[in-house]
Amino acid sequence: MTVWLCKTCFNEVAPSAEPPETCRICSDERQHVPPAGQEWISIADFAATHRNDLRDQEPGLLGIGVEPQAGIGQRALLIEHPDGGVLWDGVPLLSEEAIDEINRRGGVRAMVMSHPHLYGAAVSNSISLGNVPIFIPVADRDWIARPHENIRVFAGDRLDLGHGVTAHVTGGHFDGSAFLHWRDGAEGKGALLTGDTIMVTPGGRRVSFMWSMPGLIQLPPAHIRRIVAMTEPLAYDRIYGGWWDSKVENDAKAAVARSERRIRKILCAPPLALAAT
Ligand SMILES: [Zn+2]
Ligand SMILES: [Zn+2]
Repeated sequence: MTVWLCKTCFNEVAPSAEPPETCRICSDERQHVPPAGQEWISIADFAATHRNDLRDQEPGLLGIGVEPQAGIGQRALLIEHPDGGVLWDGVPLLSEEAIDEINRRGGVRAMVMSHPHLYGAAVSNSISLGNVPIFIPVADRDWIARPHENIRVFAGDRLDLGHGVTAHVTGGHFDGSAFLHWRDGAEGKGALLTGDTIMVTPGGRRVSFMWSMPGLIQLPPAHIRRIVAMTEPLAYDRIYGGWWDSKVENDAKAAVARSERRIRKILCAPPLALAAT
């Protein structure tokens, strides 16, 4: 049996002798299947031609990417802790060298992802890390492409992962879209790890809230309000989005408030007022 990765989104599916005909993620209207059609690669072939790219982001936070870049090019983040850290978002590969380095930094006690596009090879990685529990919101349980006993489906919109790390399920891009609050991040001022639940836009001073990124479809203002409202009680100064360069370095809470006001102004403007700006 072979573990296959979709060659567009680089998420793994349940092991099989032959790859499935379609990728559920890419055939969904939020994503896309390339004009040439659906292709797959075995995880072993992928590992033979790719390596992990590890970069310290700030004390206690390790970025884990893959190079050459694959799929949508996200990087995972490890919030380190001597008792085991929290691995946020997924990558299609964790090499032996990367696993050694992760274990040297305390290993992983929990895996949690922003949404199904960024699961990566979550089950393979959980097994390689010593069968780490993978927490998935109940709203996204139907998106689990590789069922496994290491997966823990959780209910509710808040999951306490210990040591000041909590997952918050906002919905939006996916029904189970989530962000992580790291109390001790940003030199103790707090940080949000958001994947694309809250999308950091180029320049690092604004954010956006999308239902489909490739489809360029924004979330409705009422749902943006819901997401922002869930961030408001939390102390944070920095946002790490899902990619290396997506980061609001500081004053992130003001950037989120400013961004929501700006989006609301544009989306709710009457046509004449918009034309005049
Ligand atoms: Zn796919
Ligand atoms: Zn996505």
